Amino acid sequence: METKNKKHVAVCGGGLVGAMMACYLAKRGYKVDIYERRSDIRLMEVVRGRSINLALSCRGREALRGVGLEDEISKNGIPMGARMIHDLNGQRRPIPYGTKDQYIMSIDRRLLNEALLTAAEKYPSVRIFFSHKLLSCDFEKGEAEFCNDKGDTLRIQVDLIIGADGAYSALRRQMMKLRLFDYEQTYIPHGYMELNIPPNSNNEFAMETNYLHIWPRNEFMMIALPNLDKSFTTTLFMPFEIFEGIDTEEKLMKFFEERFPDAIKLLGAEELKKTFFTSKALPMVSIKCKPYHVGGKSVIIGDAAHSMVPFYGQGMNCGLEDCIVLNEMLEKYNDDLAKALPEYTKMRHPDATAMCDLAMYNYIEMRSHVNSKLFLLRKKVDNILHMLFPRTWVPLYTMVAFTRTRYHQCISRREWQDKIINQGITMSTVGGGVGLILGAYLLHKSGGLSPVYD
Ligand code: FAD
Repeated sequence: METKNKKHVAVCGGGLVGAMMACYLAKRGYKVDIYERRSDIRLMEVVRGRSINLALSCRGREALRGVGLEDEISKNGIPMGARMIHDLNGQRRPIPYGTKDQYIMSIDRRLLNEALLTAAEKYPSVRIFFSHKLLSCDFEKGEAEFCNDKGDTLRIQVDLIIGADGAYSALRRQMMKLRLFDYEQTYIPHGYMELNIPPNSNNEFAMETNYLHIWPRNEFMMIALPNLDKSFTTTLFMPFEIFEGIDTEEKLMKFFEERFPDAIKLLGAEELKKTFFTSKALPMVSIKCKPYHVGGKSVIIGDAAHSMVPFYGQGMNCGLEDCIVLNEMLEKYNDDLAKALPEYTKMRHPDATAMCDLAMYNYIEMRSHVNSKLFLLRKKVDNILHMLFPRTWVPLYTMVAFTRTRYHQCISRREWQDKIINQGITMSTVGGGVGLILGAYLLHKSGGLSPVYD
């Protein structure tokens, strides 16, 4: 392990991104103290909080690989190679995410967070202070104040304060008081509630295992991801006013019979009623802000810097990729924080913002476009062109989930593809599908974009 660098860092938040960042910094030889508001989740019986499982894809895996955790985590994940669409009439049809060997993984959030905390703690230069909540900080002096569960306050001084304290970040709130800090937040009208599909009577998965199941119903949507215990964590998304309007068991059952008839048996009518009336629908917020840093003293990463609606399954993946990028900036600038942090904002902001936009776009795609013939046709066209020009024509989802193409470039490449498709449609009125392929080939030859897979 490197010891050349003795910078002292406070990481606020020991969630997925904070614990991962601590590992990267410890690897660089930094002295790292993690301050986490909750008590140690490894000692808890039940962890309350957001979604039980998460879709892990390429960016998150690469970050895990960087700290030697990829194998341990993916061993405990369930590959999902396709969406499984549940039509209203009960029919199911798969739509693959990419090629045969491309898949995302359903991962247990708690398991991942615990593994990251344990990995961080293995570095002798890392200490974790649980039940310590960030209250305030002084960016000029590099000071931060925390209070613990006994009500004692603790004031520390460090070289760098990192905010990895989630969507409602206390560190970001401090940054918002500074001049020229931009901030934008949008709550969507939908809320989400977690339900559960238990194993069947043979103690097997009640549905096809290696899929992300989707019940797209335009205004509503339900999804289900498999767990290692053979259950599926099932998430119902719908407008808050509809959640609130369902105030009796009769209304709930009528709603499910009309919208998700095949799911009633899977969820179990009694369990469904019990969960629905004892849970609260939770909100989803999209947050963009800038800059992510304050001088060479502080920086925010993960949801603290860019919270996104969960419809692309990229919030955590993007946050974990932040750790790679910040680490690269520290490397590039030889640990000169005053240079590395502004560069981090410059590099990361266009990408995180682009991902927030893509997630918002998928908010519509997942619940309604997957029902449309045009969407399926576009997927087919994308797949054919991907087969013909595998390094140049990469479908949007593939770029986002299976490569580390910068998020803002995923959008510009998609716009380029849209342009070609439109040209192809015009040409194909003359020359059929050949026109489209010819159009793509000519644009590629005439210096379109460089390949995604370099
Ligand atoms: P968090 O996970 O929120 O962790 C922040 C940590 O900071 C917590 O431990 C918290 O206790 C601590 N903290 C908070 N305030 C303080 C304070 N004042 N002082 C000290 N500590 C503090 N992403 C994916 O990539 N794939 C998915 O499939 C996916 N599915 C999702 C489904 C849903 C329904 C939702 C809501 C989100 C989903 N996400 C998904 C997004 C993902 O959950 C987040 O992007 C990810 O958890 C962000 O990690 P983080 O460490 O930045 O923040």
